[in-house]
Amino acid sequence: MSAPELAPKGFVPNAAQVADGFAGAVGNTPLIRLRRASEATGCEILGKAEFMQPGGSVKDRAGLGIILDAEQRGQLIPGEPGIVVEGTAGNTGIGLTLVANARGYQSIIVVPHTQSREKLDFLRMIGADLRLVDPKPLRDPGHYVNTSRRIAEELAAEGKRVIWANQFGNLANAAFHEATTGPEIWTQTAGRIDAFTCACGTGGTLTGVARALKAKNPKVRVVLADPMGSGMYSWIKTGEVKAEGNSITEGIGQASAVPGNLEHGRAAIDDAVQVDDPTALEQIYDLLLHEGISIGGSAGINVAAAIAVARQMGPGHTIVTILCDGGARYQSKLFNPEFLREKGLPTPPWLA
Ligand code: PMP
Repeated sequence: MSAPELAPKGFVPNAAQVADGFAGAVGNTPLIRLRRASEATGCEILGKAEFMQPGGSVKDRAGLGIILDAEQRGQLIPGEPGIVVEGTAGNTGIGLTLVANARGYQSIIVVPHTQSREKLDFLRMIGADLRLVDPKPLRDPGHYVNTSRRIAEELAAEGKRVIWANQFGNLANAAFHEATTGPEIWTQTAGRIDAFTCACGTGGTLTGVARALKAKNPKVRVVLADPMGSGMYSWIKTGEVKAEGNSITEGIGQASAVPGNLEHGRAAIDDAVQVDDPTALEQIYDLLLHEGISIGGSAGINVAAAIAVARQMGPGHTIVTILCDGGARYQSKLFNPEFLREKGLPTPPWLA
């Protein structure tokens, strides 16, 4: 067999591109056809492989967008000392820290200690000043978001050049997705996209992609995917935030308040679906074992939601979703039979 014959179908070398550092390597992730989900529904179900970002998740985009915006506003100055402070489920902290490292800033990252060990270890590994807090309701001053805001305010009062990234309220988050993720999906599908669905942590991804796609074609259906324990499904359906149940997924769902980045995209959201953990886990294990694609919990929710949207719309449609991060970030939870059994959840058949 000769080398050219071995090239995968449709392979095009990306010859023109040498990425300019970390920032230049963010974005332009592949859009992967999910074979079994597509076959099961008669639709084309496509997953945007955000687990292939340089920092390993979709949140590299928010991290870069927020820091670039702060530089444009003169709040941070490349080459001069500066501090980035944020409260996060982990991935935004990873994205922000890596961008900060590349641009000469420090980072202080506040995370609830309940988040996966892998993300916390990774944050320490990449040099974040990691502050662990107890999980608290949003109205509590000890909530990770409130804690991070307070730390930033205190440093500013000391005269330090500091930003509070504020991924939930800072619209640079959604704007970066509107400028990159959405147009990438439009180009990759050559405009042949009928629906987009994804879960929301801040809403940056959903809002940004929704606004970009609707600007191209207002008929693209946009559906919010929500885990149990989150009130965003009911917010879309009834206007009222009402949460029931719980989920082991991380980085998505909001129990009590609508983040600014989601509110900003409300007009572009047509509907919502709710997905429980067993349904998401089934997709995670199935994709790994039969298609070699390793994804985390929120991506499992998204794939299950894409299948639900496909069933609502019927065969012949193209539905795009986000594969937010990879399974390795949750080995100690999603691939730990003991942890899963304790929660009464299905276990990966090959590990049980
Ligand atoms: N999945 C994971 C794993 C995340 O960490 C996040 C962000 N917290 C999301 C999905 C949601 O993305 P967004 O904040 O853009 O709504």
